[in-house]
Amino acid sequence: MVWNKLIMAKHRFIYWQFFNSQFLTRDHLSRFISIISSLCPVCDLALESHSHLFLDCLFSRRLFGEISSWLGIFKWPSSQVELQEWCFSATRDLKHQILNVFYAAALYFIWKNRNNCIFELACYNISSVSSEIRKVVKCRILGLGLHRVSKMDSYLINIVEGW
Ligand SMILES: [Zn+2]
Repeated sequence: MVWNKLIMAKHRFIYWQFFNSQFLTRDHLSRFISIISSLCPVCDLALESHSHLFLDCLFSRRLFGEISSWLGIFKWPSSQVELQEWCFSATRDLKHQILNVFYAAALYFIWKNRNNCIFELACYNISSVSSEIRKVVKCRILGLGLHRVSKMDSYLINIVEGW
C-alpha cells in the first residue's frame, strides 16, 4: 500500500521513511552530533523522537482531532507497528484506499510542519493543514476516475465529492 499510485510521489517517500524509521529526528541526530536542544521543535515539550512527532505531539493530536470533522471518526494508529499492520492487511477496497492516501498525506504534512518549525520558525495553522490534506485526498481519489463498482463505493465517492 505504501507505493500505491493513488498516493502522491512525495507522500509515498515520507510514508516509506516512516515505516523504516528513517527520519533524522533530534533523538537520533544527538547520537551523532552535538545539538542545542533535543526537544521537539513543534511543541517544545518532549524529546523529539519518531513516535513523539508522528503519534504523540500536541500538533499531531490536534490535527487528528480537526481531521475527524471531515473524515469522520477515525483512530490514528497508536504506534508505527499498528499502522504497518493496517497497511499490510489493507485491501483494494475504496475505503482502505482513501485511508491509505490520507495516512500518507498526514505523515507528509506532519513532517513538513516540523521542518517549517525549524527552518522558518513558524508552525502551520492546524485548520489549514487539515484542509490541505482533505484537498489532496479528494483530488487523488476523484482525479483517477475510479469506477463506481458497488453501492458502498458510490456512497464513499459522494462523501469525498462533498469535501
Ligand atoms: Zn512535539
